[in-house]
Amino acid sequence: MTELAIPDAPAEDTAVVPLSRGVATVATAAPADTSTTTTVTAPAVLAPTVMPPDPAMEPPPLKNLLRGEGALQVQPSAPGGLEAPRLLGKLEGAAPGPTLIVIGGLHGNEPAGVLGLVRLLEDFTERSLALRRGRLVALVGNRRALRHNRRFLRHDLNRHWQPERVTSLQLRAAEEPAALTDEDAELVELAQAIEEARRSTPPGEPVYLLDLHTFSAPGIAFTTLDDNLQNRAFTLRLPVPSVLGLEEELSGTLTSFLSSQGVVSAGYESGQHEDPSAVNRAFAALWVFLESASLLAEDQMAEASFHRDRLALECAHLPPIVEVRYRHHIEPHDLFGMRPGWINFQPVSKHQILAKDRHGGVASPLDGLVLMPLYQKQGDDGFFLVRPVHRRWLLLSAAVRRLPLIHALHWLPGVKRHPELANSYIVDRKFARFLVLEVFHLLGFERRSPLDERFMVWSLRDQEAETPDPA
Ligand SMILES: [Zn+2]
Repeated sequence: MTELAIPDAPAEDTAVVPLSRGVATVATAAPADTSTTTTVTAPAVLAPTVMPPDPAMEPPPLKNLLRGEGALQVQPSAPGGLEAPRLLGKLEGAAPGPTLIVIGGLHGNEPAGVLGLVRLLEDFTERSLALRRGRLVALVGNRRALRHNRRFLRHDLNRHWQPERVTSLQLRAAEEPAALTDEDAELVELAQAIEEARRSTPPGEPVYLLDLHTFSAPGIAFTTLDDNLQNRAFTLRLPVPSVLGLEEELSGTLTSFLSSQGVVSAGYESGQHEDPSAVNRAFAALWVFLESASLLAEDQMAEASFHRDRLALECAHLPPIVEVRYRHHIEPHDLFGMRPGWINFQPVSKHQILAKDRHGGVASPLDGLVLMPLYQKQGDDGFFLVRPVHRRWLLLSAAVRRLPLIHALHWLPGVKRHPELANSYIVDRKFARFLVLEVFHLLGFERRSPLDERFMVWSLRDQEAETPDPA
């Protein structure tokens, strides 16, 4: 049976949920003929364009979605954002199984994930659908910032999940809960909600986490993942570009925190903050991830396929897998501003001017594709540059990670074992060529220090560290 857990707060009958501009809308398109699937062939040339709106995907106003019993208390808030409970709802499967935890609004100016979740919960309830097994737990991230439609109030909630910090905040919350403010309180509350969902998962069943986001430039969806094999298996079923290596640039993300604890994790960026299509893409991806987590019943697979095909069509001109090669970190005193017109996956040449700051033009340090150019005030990542990764490379790396090659790495030039950290190496860039770095990625290592430092520390991702180190 399907059970929609209804939070306690009172609800109104209808609500229009405004984004900063316009009204968020959602699609109701259903598969007309689910017996056929769409074959997608990626063209050789990257077209830096956004797909035009598809009339078949044009959705009715969101107010239609939030009608009825108001099972989901997502309402417009007076400061201009959304008022939403921590637990949006649950879908319980007919049999025990894995748990899929989905988080919307970890950044408060990104309501599309919350609205996509609302739509999924309503969809299952209205059509009396039931998961075959396991359950979905839908949570809201930064409730306080969401209320104000701001990325964060004091600091970025998706940069403070370092294990020591989480533990110390939990201790402080136990001793003096009123002392925690804004994002610190959000972190403790969200960690507790995640922990409850994990604890109630039957032993031996996997726990999955999907973190829904949007971005400030125009563009279509992509996924992000910490590159271990179980995250790949979960994430790469979604036919949108997958971005590897973002976690090496960003410290303290929620997905990295949980991934290192064995939770199968993925991030999903569904479009521009204010684009109603971002809600559609979140909704579509939720169906595909439900299938990926093996929660759907046999007769629901066609619907997941329908949504997968729609996403595949939209992304057909983009590379399926890319890797982060550069992050342009900014500080407020940089007075950074992107030049107008850059969108995700737009090709850029080395030396081409992408932005300006107090020193003048900011040129691209390499040939690549632009990712997440910053067109909002809050945030300290100006832009990222990525390059395509061939699927053969992924297959090769999956194969070699099963071999005990990691114990021979100190034979490589400029590489020695880390004297204290297990499964870690120090790489001297003076002697180690770029290929050495590629070998570390191939074998499932993660870079723990900046690319431009001479001595870099590489550690095996926790989930890859199954072969005991003989040292
Ligand atoms: Zn975000």
